[in-house]
Amino acid sequence: MPKHPFTDRDEWKLSIGGEFVPGHAPPLEVVNPATGEVLGEAPTASKEDVAAAVAAANDASRSWRWTTPEQRGERLFQIADRIHAHRDELIDLETWENGKPRVQSARDVINAERTFRFYAAAADKFYGQALVDSRDEVRKTVFEPYGVVAAVIPWNWPPMHTADFGALALATGNTVVMKPAPETPLSSLRIAELAAQILPPGVFNVVTGGVEPGAELVRHADVDFITFTGSSMTGSKILAVAAERIVPTMMELGGKNASLVFADGNLDRAVDGMLQSAFSNSGQACSGTERILVAREVYQPFLDRFCDAVEKMTLGDGFDADAEVGPIINRRQQERISGDIDRAVEGGARVAAQAPLPTDPRLAGGFWVSPTVLTGVSSDAGIMHEEVFGPVACVVPFDDEDEAVAIANDVDYGLTSGVWTQDLGRAHRLAASLEAGLVTVNAVNNGVLGLPFGGYKQSGIGRKKDFTEAMRSFSRVKAMRIRLDP
Ligand code: NAD
Repeated sequence: MPKHPFTDRDEWKLSIGGEFVPGHAPPLEVVNPATGEVLGEAPTASKEDVAAAVAAANDASRSWRWTTPEQRGERLFQIADRIHAHRDELIDLETWENGKPRVQSARDVINAERTFRFYAAAADKFYGQALVDSRDEVRKTVFEPYGVVAAVIPWNWPPMHTADFGALALATGNTVVMKPAPETPLSSLRIAELAAQILPPGVFNVVTGGVEPGAELVRHADVDFITFTGSSMTGSKILAVAAERIVPTMMELGGKNASLVFADGNLDRAVDGMLQSAFSNSGQACSGTERILVAREVYQPFLDRFCDAVEKMTLGDGFDADAEVGPIINRRQQERISGDIDRAVEGGARVAAQAPLPTDPRLAGGFWVSPTVLTGVSSDAGIMHEEVFGPVACVVPFDDEDEAVAIANDVDYGLTSGVWTQDLGRAHRLAASLEAGLVTVNAVNNGVLGLPFGGYKQSGIGRKKDFTEAMRSFSRVKAMRIRLDP
């Protein structure tokens, strides 16, 4: 068994101003979602702890913003090296607190490392423009950091979210106060420990806890920019808080993503892609497919192959090498997802396939939901419109391209969409017509480093993961007009 996160240390601490300090609010229980067992306690930041972190970030901002992009890039490369050196430990940590199969945690930690390297290399390639540069006058634009970035992140990919927003903010010259989800505080705290030996004090702070420290952080008067990843409902609340002080935001919110499988698509690849998109991370993915729309001519063969594969999926403890699907993050989400399935069935849907639940008695207290395929779902059923955020896929037939696009776009969200077709014209037409921040053709519809990732409609505002859009999201542009004649 891998090293338990509470072995060899008395306690986990907040990371504030380069110091590791206890939280002053009642601690959080960290639970292994695969078993329901309490692993130990993590600190909860009080209002004063949050204020101390913002003050530290604010102080650090005065010098960090004037570091050269090369200096910032160098530090980010060093953090990536530290993540690399501690890769196995971070993979285990994520598997303990999130429950996902170790191979999926590994992808996450490797992506976190790559993200630090990506923004390390990007830092010195991001600059404004000289618009007029004559003997008499210079007109130019520069990108400046906002100052203190508040980053509130969720529990589904904790190391990657830490890197997505931490590395991006630091590369653009901002300092950070990060608030991880209460379910997964340890990955971000550990990355902060590794970074503390590299960054000046106060540049990267982590305060853990639930809603209260998150709410304290986003409403703090010295926060200059807010980035939030999570539910659209919480995003909307944070936008209202930001509106009071007119603080700019970047929001990465929910999705109700559709993938469209056409008769000319490669069915085997579509089935594999959909298994990954719908069930990887136990379906707890904002980019994942919850609605699979299939051309009527291939509906039955697709469904047969898909259901057959789902019934063979293995659920298990993330440390078990056979596990393909892990547990749901907590009891509340498990009950919410199970309730969504029950309501869909009461409304006339049919459970076409489910993977078997784990039988190991050690996992009896875990938060399990079987990967589930629903058919016969009516177009106005709640499950066709509201995000489930769990391993549930509705498979729906369509008759033609127009109908498929209409169903796909008939939601308030617009994060990702996938198309499976060999027809080049159709690929281009649909890439243009689908209302989503990311459209993939014959590829799994998830975010990749280097492509801007973010939502249309209620799926969010702003972009991450790329160079131009993300770096701009985290910067403000200043125009300068400088007369040179006396
Ligand atoms: P949430 O959106 O409520 O929480 C996400 C983060 O925000 C956590 O760190 C939480 O502590 C913090 N938070 C909550 N309320 C806050 C507030 N008022 N001010 C500041 N911070 C606040 O999500 P959840 O309760 O963990 O999960 C519920 C639903 O959220 C899921 O069913 C899913 O639909 C969605 N979700 C989406 C993503 C995503 O990647 N887009 C990730 C996780 C959850």
